Amino acid sequence: MPIVGAHVSAAGGLWNAVTNGVAIGVEAIQIFGSQPTTWRATSHKPEAYEKFRAARAEANLAAVWLHSPYLPNLAADDDEQWQKSIDCVVNALTVAHTAGADGVVLHTGSHKGRGVEAVLERVADAIKRILDAAPGDCRLALENAAGQGGTIGKSWAELGAIVHEVKASRLAVCLDTCHAFAAGYNIADPVGLRAMLAELDSEVGLDRLAVIHANDSLMEFGSTRDRHQNIGDGFIGNEGFKVILAEPAFASLPMLLEVPGIDGKSGPDAENVARLKRLRDEAGA
Ligand SMILES: [Zn+2]
Ligand SMILES: [Zn+2]
Repeated sequence: MPIVGAHVSAAGGLWNAVTNGVAIGVEAIQIFGSQPTTWRATSHKPEAYEKFRAARAEANLAAVWLHSPYLPNLAADDDEQWQKSIDCVVNALTVAHTAGADGVVLHTGSHKGRGVEAVLERVADAIKRILDAAPGDCRLALENAAGQGGTIGKSWAELGAIVHEVKASRLAVCLDTCHAFAAGYNIADPVGLRAMLAELDSEVGLDRLAVIHANDSLMEFGSTRDRHQNIGDGFIGNEGFKVILAEPAFASLPMLLEVPGIDGKSGPDAENVARLKRLRDEAGA
């Protein structure tokens, strides 16, 4: 069965993320390693990493992922922006390595309407530089996109082209259920889910699927709009999540919530974790 987890706040110190996760009942967490909307890298003290590792072991979390800040665009034309993007992701991978995390999830960037082919070399060059510079063996997982505004990764063919150009074992992919649904993969339906997995396997390779973002979709199927909804309250719905949770290809993968929360503002909460666990039980029964 998949591992149920959530994005949680690490405000005040990395170790607080473990406490926040335990408080809502997760088995895995995702955190930001630094402020998601600034370029500036947060410098965590050695003691912070020690406290994080100890708390993580005590909580027995099955997986820990970092989410990269939102600013990097590995397809940026401007050399300064491009280099800043590379440095930012290297920093995230360095924090992940030092914290003992599994890897970093990244939004690759935007081709600004030119198509992925036009930026493929630029993106691949950036990823090679990132993996050369980042210590350890943490994975870098490119997240699929809803397809709004030229974001890279609307299709698995787009991410597959990058993966094949880079040819690095550390390069992985992240499936966001809301993004896939919005991009036109009907994963709420068993036939649609199998079709998407066949495409993911042929374009990328299923062995590269390392992590899942479990989000319902506020917008209808194929909308290309990236609007997350609480589990069961969106267009994927409870039945859709039962299909997803029962999928053998997802067994043992972390499914991390990035939902608005029942109050619409606090983010992943105990109720969403409970919903996902209940649906997992029903899917397995
Ligand atoms: Zn996501
Ligand atoms: Zn999203």
